[in-house]
Amino acid sequence: MNLYEYQGKELFAQYRIPIPKGKLAVNRSDAVGYALQAGFPVVVKAQVLTGGRGKSGGIKVVKNEAELDRAVDDVFSLRIKGFAVEKVLIEEGVNIDKEIYMSILTNRATEKITLIACGQGGMDIEEVAKKDAAAVLKMDIDPLIGLRSHHFLKLFRHLEISDQSVIYQMKHIAGKMYEMFNELYLSLVEINPLIITSGKRVLALDSKTVIDDNGFPFLKEMERFANQDDKNRDEIDAKNANLSFVALDGDIGCIVNGAGLAMATMDMIKHFGGDPANFLDIGGSSNPDKVVNALKIITRNPRVKAILFNIFGGITRCDDVAKGIKEALLKSPISLPIVIRLTGTNQSEGVEILKGLKLPATSSMQEAVKMAVEKCGGVK
Ligand code: GDP
Ligand code: MN
Repeated sequence: MNLYEYQGKELFAQYRIPIPKGKLAVNRSDAVGYALQAGFPVVVKAQVLTGGRGKSGGIKVVKNEAELDRAVDDVFSLRIKGFAVEKVLIEEGVNIDKEIYMSILTNRATEKITLIACGQGGMDIEEVAKKDAAAVLKMDIDPLIGLRSHHFLKLFRHLEISDQSVIYQMKHIAGKMYEMFNELYLSLVEINPLIITSGKRVLALDSKTVIDDNGFPFLKEMERFANQDDKNRDEIDAKNANLSFVALDGDIGCIVNGAGLAMATMDMIKHFGGDPANFLDIGGSSNPDKVVNALKIITRNPRVKAILFNIFGGITRCDDVAKGIKEALLKSPISLPIVIRLTGTNQSEGVEILKGLKLPATSSMQEAVKMAVEKCGGVK
């Protein structure tokens, strides 16, 4: 799960990683009020779950009161990569002397934890790496040994930092990032930029924090961060309904039995030029409630334009799935197009029930997938 900048910074504060003073505002008048309290210069930062806000006008440094209303209005009116701005972080402005990139992440390729650092912070790190690979330092950390002095030596040499006070602060910050990474089951903690002020203070100006969802059972208190955006909310509700569900960005809502078939369904959707809105395995049980719950979660997603059922009846019985569809439609009619592929155990009983609902079913997966893609406007 991705955290917003302000949530990541809440964790930074907990771990004593220094951040600028700031306050979250959920409307324009609060934003203006907090900015006036903070004094000038003040920074208005859009809170959206995507990077590159600076480039899209989502970060405004405001020098005086005359510019404030306009800046707050501008940021709240933005759409950044499709995300509306509903919250802004109001932060004290700071003097930047140097911007650094620093992150700790799970490295699947080396099966280690990797610390990445670069002296050209603030910018898109992938771009920097493309132009000048040597500018980006990557150090593997053996999780059994941890972050040690030799890592720090390499880090400060690479960043060309020799000031004792800065070294001391950076060591504290890197150590705390590593501690946080391990204790909170993170797959990424990134500070870009980590800045050195003209007064030689080191501060985390931005935060990108990703929690490995597998850590949630051990981190009850982290659930306070969930429910903050619709994708997370869908995944949590699905988990409570015993559904394996992963929210995606496309427009075809998928209801499939079996994880393998669900993966194959998504592959086939992509193959025919469509885009799945989710991965969903309703499992092998014969329980119509699961279908009812799945439809509830999928249909409340405003991006979904069509629903595709792909049921291969083994232990799952086709008539039970059909009953679930019927129950769900009786409770709340669905106006979206529904495409159904049904084959296997009790297929004819299932098809009969669906006929009563005027929902045709096919036994061909290809045919069903193609139809769903068409219902969503064809190849993307
Ligand atoms: P991102 O574009 O989404 O990564 O947003 P960041 O929080 O990283 O901000 C982008 C850039 O805005 C930073 O690299 C800084 O150059 C600048 N910026 C952010 N906060 C301040 C501030 O308090 N003072 C100044 N002068 N610049 C800032
Ligand atoms: Mn940034």
